[in-house]
Amino acid sequence: HGKPDYAATEKASHFKPIAYPKPDGVLTFDRLSSVFLSNTNHEEDQPVHLKVKDENLQKSSEYVDFAGLSARYCPAGVYEWIDADGNSVPADADRKPGDNVRFQINAQNCVHCKTCDIKDPNQNINWTVPQGGEGPVYSVM
Ligand code: SF4
Repeated sequence: HGKPDYAATEKASHFKPIAYPKPDGVLTFDRLSSVFLSNTNHEEDQPVHLKVKDENLQKSSEYVDFAGLSARYCPAGVYEWIDADGNSVPADADRKPGDNVRFQINAQNCVHCKTCDIKDPNQNINWTVPQGGEGPVYSVM
């Protein structure tokens, strides 16, 4: 469509939030159950292979302007914005630049789809090659 995917992403204020139904466990499944089926495996203390170039930009733009879209496009629940009480910030939260939040990367869940590298609107997340031999192991592929 004439421009890179990240450049086609628009700010959250241009849209109305979509309330998706909860997974029914028959035709639709929650993300962490699907991550389990991928048999993905990384050592807990491996060097993080997902690099955020500028933490301030991540908060001012990805968190505030784009409503933390990494928590939605990542199929494995790797990215979360965490509030001062240690809870994940919900998708429909009212977000302000002064919020006491931090960006958490659960790199051990990554299934190496590289969506974050392609879709982040600021090109602020770099997917790098993880520690050798780690990642998803799809048993029927
Ligand atoms: S590569 Fe895919 S699974 Fe891994 S963090 Fe990025 S979006 Fe999530």
